[in-house]
Amino acid sequence: MTRKMTRQIQVGNVRIGGDAPVSIQSMTSGYTHDVDACVTEIHKLANAGADIVRVAVPEKKDTAVLPEILSQVSVPIVADVHFHFKRALESIEAGVHKIRLNPGNIGDTEQVNAVIDACKDAGIPIRIGVNEGSVVERKDKQKRQEELASFFSDRKQGHLLAMMIAKIEEYLDIFAARDFHDICLSAKLMDARLVIDIYEELSKRFDYPLHLGVTHAGPRETGSIRSISALGSLLSQGIGDTIRISYASDPVYEVEDGVELLNCLDLRDRIGAELIACPSCGRIQVDLFTLVDDVRKQLQDDIDVPIKVAVMGCVVNGPGEAEGADVAVFAGDRRGIIYVQGERVANVPENEILDRLLHECKNLQERVRSGATKLGEKAVTIVAPTSDVTIEGHHQ
Ligand code: SF4
Repeated sequence: MTRKMTRQIQVGNVRIGGDAPVSIQSMTSGYTHDVDACVTEIHKLANAGADIVRVAVPEKKDTAVLPEILSQVSVPIVADVHFHFKRALESIEAGVHKIRLNPGNIGDTEQVNAVIDACKDAGIPIRIGVNEGSVVERKDKQKRQEELASFFSDRKQGHLLAMMIAKIEEYLDIFAARDFHDICLSAKLMDARLVIDIYEELSKRFDYPLHLGVTHAGPRETGSIRSISALGSLLSQGIGDTIRISYASDPVYEVEDGVELLNCLDLRDRIGAELIACPSCGRIQVDLFTLVDDVRKQLQDDIDVPIKVAVMGCVVNGPGEAEGADVAVFAGDRRGIIYVQGERVANVPENEILDRLLHECKNLQERVRSGATKLGEKAVTIVAPTSDVTIEGHHQ
């Protein structure tokens, strides 16, 4: 895909926009003033793959601890300022790497100017982040909103999208008057279709980098579908420079799913194993779901080279579906036949599959690290297991 070229901004050591890789953000879920808990959460998010972490600073006691937090973490920190511009000024003074302002909540031009000037002095960017819940119709802006509304007239909730874009434009006027362009933009809604519509429009109208997200997407089970459908569509069109998936759940899941999304779209080099698994069917030969879940957890803990691992429930379709895997197991008659780089290496009972498979993955990891082999090279064709595997109705 060709990515839309945007301006580039720098958030600590992470570049957003232009030719920079799409970055992953998340936000801590606890109180920022609880320093130990906040630092622990930031470490967990960074370890899961977050490039940037945002913290809320609703009160002075939150900004007061920022220097202490910043001294203990290495990932860039964004201060999320909602209602009081002084929290932004205090956060900038503390040394955060970016400020997020919500135009729906801080609208006073003098206050915004104070934040812009402080960010300019500190050399840090600002995200202008509009949410559907924080835009209100204003009489003096009605004409512009009506113009935009007619533009969106054929879209679902076009008026709401128009109000959000009008709000961003109105805010950008303040920034332009200050000649401040160290900006990224976001416009979040909870409806995936609307998120796609509004970001497509933002991408046409502005060259500032875009922070993609679906707001209040819900728990991971449903929020993941909502988020991935919107963000996946936009990213595959080349739109979006940084993403935040948000769930009503542990934010580590947000990062894990964001990493996987970028991996799936080839927008990020995979760190760690890629797991392929069959959905299972009436030919299943082992307790596949438990095996897959155990393999997934162990791979996450033990493997940090991009080994492709296939776990297949039988030998009927498994070999074809696992083609390209570096390590594969095919279940047969309560056993597992294990292949490494196209070579058959073991045939073990079901209760030994997990250990043996991981053993082979770790061995391969060592060989890759030492330069003795390369991944993908000898992975292509796995010959189906033969006479020692018998499946009822299918003698292989
Ligand atoms: S690999 Fe075998 S068990 Fe799994 S879905 Fe395919 S045919 Fe069914």
